[in-house]
Amino acid sequence: MPDVVIAGAGPAGAVAATVLARAGVQVLVLDRARFPRPKLCGDTVNPGALAILTRLGLDAAVDGGLPIDGMIVTSERVRVVGRYDGMQGRSIARQDLDAALVRLAREAGAEIQEGVLVDAPVVESRNGAPRVVGLTTKCEGGLPRRIDARLVIAADGRYSRVARALHLSRSPRRPRRWAIGAYFTDVAGLTAFGEMHVRSGHYLGVAPLPGGLANACLVVSARRALRDPSTLLLEAICTDRRLAGRFASARMLGVAACLGPLAVECSAGGMAGLLLAGDAGGFVDPMTGDGLRFAFRGGELAALEALHALEHGVEAAHVRLLAARREAFGRKWRFNRGLRSLAGSPVAARAAAFGAAVAPAILRRVIRYAGDADAA
Ligand SMILES: Cc1cc2nc3c(=O)[nH]c(=O)nc-3n(C[C@H](O)[C@H](O)[C@H](O)COP(=O)(O)OP(=O)(O)OC[C@H]3O[C@@H](n4cnc5c(N)ncnc54)[C@H](O)[C@@H]3O)c2cc1C
Repeated sequence: MPDVVIAGAGPAGAVAATVLARAGVQVLVLDRARFPRPKLCGDTVNPGALAILTRLGLDAAVDGGLPIDGMIVTSERVRVVGRYDGMQGRSIARQDLDAALVRLAREAGAEIQEGVLVDAPVVESRNGAPRVVGLTTKCEGGLPRRIDARLVIAADGRYSRVARALHLSRSPRRPRRWAIGAYFTDVAGLTAFGEMHVRSGHYLGVAPLPGGLANACLVVSARRALRDPSTLLLEAICTDRRLAGRFASARMLGVAACLGPLAVECSAGGMAGLLLAGDAGGFVDPMTGDGLRFAFRGGELAALEALHALEHGVEAAHVRLLAARREAFGRKWRFNRGLRSLAGSPVAARAAAFGAAVAPAILRRVIRYAGDADAA
């Protein structure tokens, strides 16, 4: 029986597994995918996220990525360039980043089983109280299995089966937004900056990638995104006066990926026997491009609480984890929610665009804060 079983080998699960394995814990990670696997994302690692990888000795995972010096934010009328002031992030395709993190976790001693779907948590009564004692799984063409462990970490992303089965997380009624993303060749005017183009009813991120590629991600509140994502993405680009010319010779690789609704609410650190990490513990909005920092640090925090729990008992570990997450992320979560509301309200967005036009220094500070450059 492993000491810790982790659902999900994405950034949160891989970092948690690495920290635990380095501490000599027997850790088993299960992922339904086989790596490298695609993941719809803006593909930027901000300076705060990069600093965590570096501190943990995992920065080899971004080898081959492009340096990112800051963000360019535009509205229909305003264009502001915000630098990370000497700090840098990276842009790297998630399928490469995530596969590298999985490799590093294995090298640290974690056992990672791919192609294994986590079906549900196993809950039993211990001393009269419910406790998570393991997971049930299904693997390709195999029989369902039960895996017991002293502690479970759910790092299985926004739609965490584990967290949802226990009613620890949910998709709120509002905001309801969907993301559509694709890779392009031959996009003109790419620089060492990520780009966020905020428009009425949607926003569109563009990032340069190694190999002359560009990532374009559109976030919309219309459910019609699900019907024909590729067309919606191309329409948004081709009708945008700042982007249409730059994408005139561009070619989309394959079809666009689509996911949503994006927001996930969660106000728990887990429950007895279970800790949540990364998006499984809640997701605000991709606009600020900082989900990976939450995932890396959230994975690390879950691992540190797990180490404490294995020595002193698992009952209250989720309570301590929640307090640690609030301490580490509370301010940034509030900031992200504020930005999300601003972008969702046409009046507030116009007021913000006006403010950015007359006092761009404010927006430059917002860009720096959003990029976690202060936390780096
Ligand atoms: C459109 C969009 C753009 C974004 N852009 C950025 C950006 O530019 N920069 C940034 O920092 N963040 C960005 N984010 C956020 C970032 O992608 C996430 O915060 C990050 O991926 C969270 O990592 P995670 O490990 O928690 O979850 P995930 O990356 O989702 O990994 C979860 C893993 O669990 C596995 N899994 C899921 N269910 C099961 C199951 N039942 N059984 C077994 N395995 C399972 C999956 O296969 C996956 O490997 C963006 C998000 C979106 C939606």
